[in-house]
Amino acid sequence: MNINQTKRIVVKVGSSLVTNNGEGLDHAAIGMWAEQMAVLLKAGHEVLMVSSGAIAEGMQRLGWAKRPQEIHQLQAAAAVGQMGLVQVYETCFARFNLRSAQILLTNADLAHAERNANAKATLDTLLKLGVVPIINENDTVVTDEIKFGDNDSLAALVTNLICADLLVILTDQGGLFTADPRQNPDATLLADAIAGDPALEKMAGGAGSELSKGGMLTKVLAAKVAAKTGAITVIASGREPNVLNRLLSGEKIGTQLAPN
Ligand code: GLU
Repeated sequence: MNINQTKRIVVKVGSSLVTNNGEGLDHAAIGMWAEQMAVLLKAGHEVLMVSSGAIAEGMQRLGWAKRPQEIHQLQAAAAVGQMGLVQVYETCFARFNLRSAQILLTNADLAHAERNANAKATLDTLLKLGVVPIINENDTVVTDEIKFGDNDSLAALVTNLICADLLVILTDQGGLFTADPRQNPDATLLADAIAGDPALEKMAGGAGSELSKGGMLTKVLAAKVAAKTGAITVIASGREPNVLNRLLSGEKIGTQLAPN
């Protein structure tokens, strides 16, 4: 399947993108994605968003300049920030006549048969109603994505849950590079690869590298999980103008990880 043939799409945006590197929720960026999604919905696609940014927004609201080490403080910040996060999504989506819904999930919910079935049925119903679900981890009850991942793994599990054809991971990098482009000027963008290729995990940074802190490694692992139900994963810059619509019309942007 080519990207322009996909129907059900999961779009994941990370904290640094949503909060413009911790400066506060980026209304302009969220508005830009909403505008693009309105076009996709009109063209018959179904779209879900997985968004972090609750902790970053919570820290702002609580006046914390430095990210705390204490996990319960991070969970508290997430609870405070989630209010702002959904408020901004709702406002930005409404501007384009899109309805949105808040879903808080955990890996454990998806591993539990009854909860998995309920989550799937709710998401399917929302999608049929033309509503865009905005999903985040339920940080009050678990700490998986707080410690490592920034929702990359959750986005892949949601992709499996609703059998999405495409997972788009929007980040502040242009895609997956052969080395860390911030440190190595010879790094080149990898345009195409097979999800689950072990060489990708090495490329994305082993222990100790900057990129491994929930950076490219968790994205490469997410692509491997998404491929289990046949989904293509694209890792691309969320700051690229009109990135979603261009991808869906078949333009090559960022790194495309195809299921084997
Ligand atoms: N679910 C968290 C959030 O929305 C994960 C990201 C993080 O650890 O900063 O902020």
